[in-house]
Amino acid sequence: MEIAYLAAIVLFILALYWMNAPKSARRSVSAGVAAMALAIVATWSRPEVVHHLWIILALIGGVVVGVPLSRVALTAVPQRTALSHAFGGLAAGLVGTAKYYMWVSEGAAELTGFRMTAIVVETLLGFLTLTGSLMAAGKLHGVSWIPQRPVIYPLQNMTNLALFALAVVVGVSLIIAPAGPWSGVAFPLLIALSLAFGVLLIIPIGGADMPTVISILNAYAGLSAVAMGFVLDSRLLVVAGALDGASGLILSIIMCRAMNRSFTNVLFGGFGQVQETAAAGAEDRHYKEETIEGAAQTMEMARLVVIVPGYGMAVAHAQHRVAELYDQLTARGTTVKFVIHPVAGRMPGHMNVLLAEAEIPYDDIVEMDDMNPDMEQVDVALIIGANDVVNPAAREKKGCPIYGMPIIEAHRAKTVFAIKRGKSPGFAGIENDLYFRDQSFMLFGDAKDVIGELTKQLAVDEAA
Ligand code: NAP
Repeated sequence: MEIAYLAAIVLFILALYWMNAPKSARRSVSAGVAAMALAIVATWSRPEVVHHLWIILALIGGVVVGVPLSRVALTAVPQRTALSHAFGGLAAGLVGTAKYYMWVSEGAAELTGFRMTAIVVETLLGFLTLTGSLMAAGKLHGVSWIPQRPVIYPLQNMTNLALFALAVVVGVSLIIAPAGPWSGVAFPLLIALSLAFGVLLIIPIGGADMPTVISILNAYAGLSAVAMGFVLDSRLLVVAGALDGASGLILSIIMCRAMNRSFTNVLFGGFGQVQETAAAGAEDRHYKEETIEGAAQTMEMARLVVIVPGYGMAVAHAQHRVAELYDQLTARGTTVKFVIHPVAGRMPGHMNVLLAEAEIPYDDIVEMDDMNPDMEQVDVALIIGANDVVNPAAREKKGCPIYGMPIIEAHRAKTVFAIKRGKSPGFAGIENDLYFRDQSFMLFGDAKDVIGELTKQLAVDEAA
C-alpha cells in the first residue's frame, strides 16, 4: 500500500515536471492520470473501506459529470478549470464537515487541537474555493446574472476583511471547544461565512482577470487538500495537496509577473475593464491597410518570418489555417518562427496547446526572451489576433495599464502585418501603438479567413 502511495507521489511530481515543456506535456498528463488511478485503487483496497457501493456511485457520478466537461471548447478551458477547483473545494469542505460531526457524535475525544485546526482550515478554504470558483467560472462563461465588470462598493475591502476575521474568530472558538455549547451554531456559521467570503472575494474582480484568480483559487484548493490530508491521516493527500497548492501559487506568480502586476493589484485592482476613452481614441488615428496580394508579395521575399499568435487566433479557431501557411512558407525555403508570450490568449499555455494541435514542430516555437534580441533580423512579423502582447506602450507609456509588462518586440521587425477584425482593443482595453508605426499594415478580417486567403494567394503566386 505504502509503495503504491509512494509511486503515486513520484508520478505526481513527474507530471508537474514534464508539464514544463510542450514536448513532454502529453507524458505529463499520462503520468498524472496514472498517479490518480494508483491513488484511488490503493485507497479503495484498504481493509477499512467497506462501503463499496458509495464509491461506485461516486465514480459513476464523476464520470457522468467529467466526460462532458472534458469535451468543452479550448476557449472554455479556463471556466472548466474553475469548475474542477469548485468540485475540489466542495469535496474538502464536505469531508471536513462529515469528519467534524462524526467525531462530535463519538464524544469529541478524537477532536484534538491539531485535528480541529485542520478541519477549520479545510472547511474554510474548501467552501470559499467552492463559491469563489463558481463565481469565477460564471464570470468567464458570461452567465447573464453574474456581472462581468468588477462590482465595487464603499468599504468593500474592510467588509471582506471583517467577514474573514469573523470566520477566523468562529474557527478559533471551535478549536478551543470543538463540542462547546455554541458549536451547534458555530460550525454552520463557519460554513456560511466561508461560502459568503468566496463570493465577495470574486465580485470586485473583472471577468478578464479571472484566469489569474483561478490559479490563486487552485492554490487555495491545494491548501484545503493538505488540511484534509491531516484530518484523514493521509500522507498522499498532504503531498498531492501541497504540490497542487504550490503549483497554483507559482503559476499565479508567473502570470502576475508576465503582466507586470502584483497579487494585490489582481485581487483588488479592478483591472480588465475596457477603458472606453482609450479605446475610442483609436478611431482618430490612421491605420494603413494592405491587400492580401500585397502582403503575399512581401512575404514571398522574406527570409525570416515571425508569427505572433494571440487571443484572436483562438477565437477564430485559425490554428490549422496557420499551419497551412507555415507549410506553404517553409516549402519555399522561408524560415518561420512562432513567438509566444507567456500570457498570450486567456490561459497559460493557450497558444502552445493550439499550435501543438495544429502539429507545428516544437523547434519552431520560440520563447519571447529568445526571439527579442534578434527582432531586427525579422523581415515580416505577422501578428495574428494578438494585441497587448506586442503593444510598445508597455515599454513607452508610463501609467498605461500594461506599463512594464514585457512584450514581444514586433515593432523592431522590418515589416509588420497585423490581422484583426476591427479597431477593438485587447484585454487591457488600450489602443496599440504598433499598428500606427511606419512599417505596420493591417489585414482586417477574421483570422481564419485572412490566413486562408493569404495561403491561397501564396499558392497562386507559386504556381504562376
Ligand atoms: P488581446 O490583447 O486580448 O487581443 C486580442 C485581439 O484579438 C483583439 O484586439 C481582437 O481585436 C482580436 N480578435 C478577436 N477575435 C478575432 C478574430 N476572430 N480574428 C482576428 N482577430 C480577432 O490578446 P493577446 O495579445 O493574446 O493578449 C492577452 C491578454 O490577456 C494580455 O493582456 C494578458 O495579460 C491577458 N491575460 C492573459 C492570461 C493568460 O493566462 N494567457 C490570463 C489573464 C489575462 P478585434 O476585436 O478588433 O478583432
